[in-house]
Amino acid sequence: MTTICSIPGERFSRARFMPRFRATDSVRVCLTRCLAALTVIVINMGTGSVARADNEMTNTTAVASNKAVFLIVDGIPADVIERVATPNLDVIAKVGGYTRAEVGGPLNDPAETPTVSAPGYMSLVTGTWANKHNVYGNADLAPNYDYWNLFRLVKAVDPSLETGLFSTWTDNRTVLLGEGLASAGSITIDYVADEFETDAQRFPHAPNDRHIQVIDRYVTAEAARAIEQFGPDLSWVYLQYTDDVGHALGDSSELDAAVEVMDALVGTVWTAVQARAAAHNEDWLILVTTDHGRDRETGRDHGGQSERERTTWITTNSRRLNARFHQRPSIVDIYPSIVSHLGIRIPLPTAGALDGRSFID
Ligand SMILES: [Zn+2]
Repeated sequence: MTTICSIPGERFSRARFMPRFRATDSVRVCLTRCLAALTVIVINMGTGSVARADNEMTNTTAVASNKAVFLIVDGIPADVIERVATPNLDVIAKVGGYTRAEVGGPLNDPAETPTVSAPGYMSLVTGTWANKHNVYGNADLAPNYDYWNLFRLVKAVDPSLETGLFSTWTDNRTVLLGEGLASAGSITIDYVADEFETDAQRFPHAPNDRHIQVIDRYVTAEAARAIEQFGPDLSWVYLQYTDDVGHALGDSSELDAAVEVMDALVGTVWTAVQARAAAHNEDWLILVTTDHGRDRETGRDHGGQSERERTTWITTNSRRLNARFHQRPSIVDIYPSIVSHLGIRIPLPTAGALDGRSFID
């Protein structure tokens, strides 16, 4: 991949992390309407087969001023997020809400999904469980791209909508979203900051993966900068270090401290969102969640279906939360909720393939 240095001392993984032409709202509306004839691959829920449907996008409506950023902060059980002081998450929750949530899918069901990181991310970005998206672990990844991820959906509805991905794990973009792959829709993410975990020169490995926290800080700063300057319509921020501490030390004061740092990083993104929204009269959704809990005995492990591993949480600023939000929503409910905030109507067959339902009206 081409790497450029646009600012001395700062590395961006993509040349496109630069100011570029932004479509005006009227252009966006036009593009959306012109997509009426778009032919899309949609998924037949009943058979799981892929069918071709025309004109499914006829009634989609992109609301240009509605934008969303979701953050996945890795491996923080609900009891930990509720015990440790998280003033920034508290501020966001005061605007919208906080709820306990769930991962792992329906128990003893074909849709049961390991409480493992990549399956969790895939469940969020596709709104489906692993029996559909086909990601059961963190290695040997072979996603089923027939289940469109959020970024592909947004680009299909309106190619002028912009996306961002700020991540401590490059596979999120290159494998899970399948950026650039024809089988995944040949999407391009407009603003990217990732690949730093492989840059041992700039981020040398440290004991207990402390360098990952340094990367998390950098990724967060880049996300905040992109949000405030460019306002991507849909962004994903992924912060990893809390899970590294959990694996190394389990439930510990070090894990609590890592959660406090994570909260400060969330505050950085929230500050950028507020500044952006105020300066451009935009309606921003921020949503923070985790991908799995941890085992009850030590806090070092996860992957099973124990209550603590399955119990997660969601914090959001949305003022349009419906009853579903308070009924222990699951990670697959986030996809339709973000889509609802963005004002995008999902083509019916694709909507039918989703395993969740929106907690945002
Ligand atoms: Zn994880």
